[in-house]
Amino acid sequence: MKEIIETILSGGAVAADYAALPVPEAYRGCLVRKEDAGMFAGAAGRDKDPRRSLRVEEVPTPELGPGEALVAVMASAVNYNTVWSSIFEPVSTFGFLERYARSGGPAAAQHDRPYHVLGSDLSGVVLRTGPGVRRWRPGDEVVAHCLSVELESPDGHADTMLDPEQRIWGYETNFGGLAELAVVKANQLMPKPDHLTWEESACSGLVNSTAYRQLVSRNGAGMKQGDVVLVWGAAGGLGSYATQLALNGGALPVCVVSSPEKAALVRSMGAELVIDRSAEDYRFWKDPQTQDPGEWRRFGARIRELTGGEDVDVVLEHPGRETFGASVYVTRKGGTVVTCASTSGFMHQYDNRYLWMHLKRIVGTHFANYREAWEANRLIARGMVHPTLSAVYPLAEAGRATADVHANRHSGKVGVLCLAPEEGLGVRDHALRAKHLPAINRFRSTT
Ligand code: NAP
Repeated sequence: MKEIIETILSGGAVAADYAALPVPEAYRGCLVRKEDAGMFAGAAGRDKDPRRSLRVEEVPTPELGPGEALVAVMASAVNYNTVWSSIFEPVSTFGFLERYARSGGPAAAQHDRPYHVLGSDLSGVVLRTGPGVRRWRPGDEVVAHCLSVELESPDGHADTMLDPEQRIWGYETNFGGLAELAVVKANQLMPKPDHLTWEESACSGLVNSTAYRQLVSRNGAGMKQGDVVLVWGAAGGLGSYATQLALNGGALPVCVVSSPEKAALVRSMGAELVIDRSAEDYRFWKDPQTQDPGEWRRFGARIRELTGGEDVDVVLEHPGRETFGASVYVTRKGGTVVTCASTSGFMHQYDNRYLWMHLKRIVGTHFANYREAWEANRLIARGMVHPTLSAVYPLAEAGRATADVHANRHSGKVGVLCLAPEEGLGVRDHALRAKHLPAINRFRSTT
């Protein structure tokens, strides 16, 4: 790896130099092992500690299949799917790998291993490309989005998220980004934003693309100027990008957070309408089976107080069971609840009278297609949306980084250095960086 790192850090190497570098036979990756899948049996979700299941170990470098690329990973990031994989909830990810392997071909078959190298974000440099790759070549500085598709069925050709062989790389596939090397499909690659460091450019891909499809794209809510957008977890991964996308698109985000520090963070991004759910102590559930519509009304009244009497056009939903009833209630007539997750539980309950009588829509959404991910990355590269990196850990401490996200001790995004020997490297456009430095650093040292 030393030679690869030196070549990248030299800054002057060209495609031929990279192509001449030998590919290491093994690399270090953050992984879970199949034999550990039952280790948390009987424990409550919050008591499952990712530090026990996540290991950083050396594994053999996989072969490259047609249309794939091998990337030297400089930095990666923790996503909530890293948490799900590490606590084997809602299911162990080894079932995904086994199914992928059965789908056919040697490139797919090699994903079924007794270990799963995790990670759905990366920044780095292309080392090799497989047969048929024309657009990318060794030496390209890239980030990767996490949509892996086969596109052999007609179903995925209008929107690649609808491909029956659609998978989230590093969650439903092996050889993810929390590692020194990663295998991606070449159509996951996008240019690394020139004004950002390796760790800053690695942290946005998954959440920014998801929030972009969820809020902005016509495949999601199709948010427009002036819309009131309720953003749950506005200082978290998805929410910190959703807040920026709402502000950037001329909407009015109503940002829900759980502490004064997080309230200050979202205000620093330009949000003016903020609800501290802890301070205001909303209890949408009287007991585990019964919701309290009085609390929905109190929450709705607070939103009206902030907006000058207006209700919500769009809700960015992801907490799930705990908040979904309230989200449906506070949405305006004809408005949209757009959901991509169920962190607090996936069996939702809501009062359907408020949905049908008020002609509201619930829209399901999931990650983003390549075009949406590209558009979201372009906003980062132009300095219109900024990374919300709050903390950075070395690869060896990926378990601790993941435990912080699991315990909601973090804000924004938590980054991981892979081959990058230190923070602050990889910036190519210093002028653009200088212009946006305060915004790029907004979330640093907040956890
Ligand atoms: P995150 O960084 O942990 O942020 C989530 C935020 O939600 C937290 O900061 C927290 O903010 C808030 N929250 C947590 N529990 C809550 C509750 N019970 N009620 C209200 N707010 C709550 O995670 P993330 O990256 O944003 O991901 C959030 C969820 O979306 C995860 O389940 C993840 O797997 C999912 N996701 C899905 C996709 C997809 O493509 N389908 C993509 C990305 C993420 P406060 O404590 O400040 O309120």
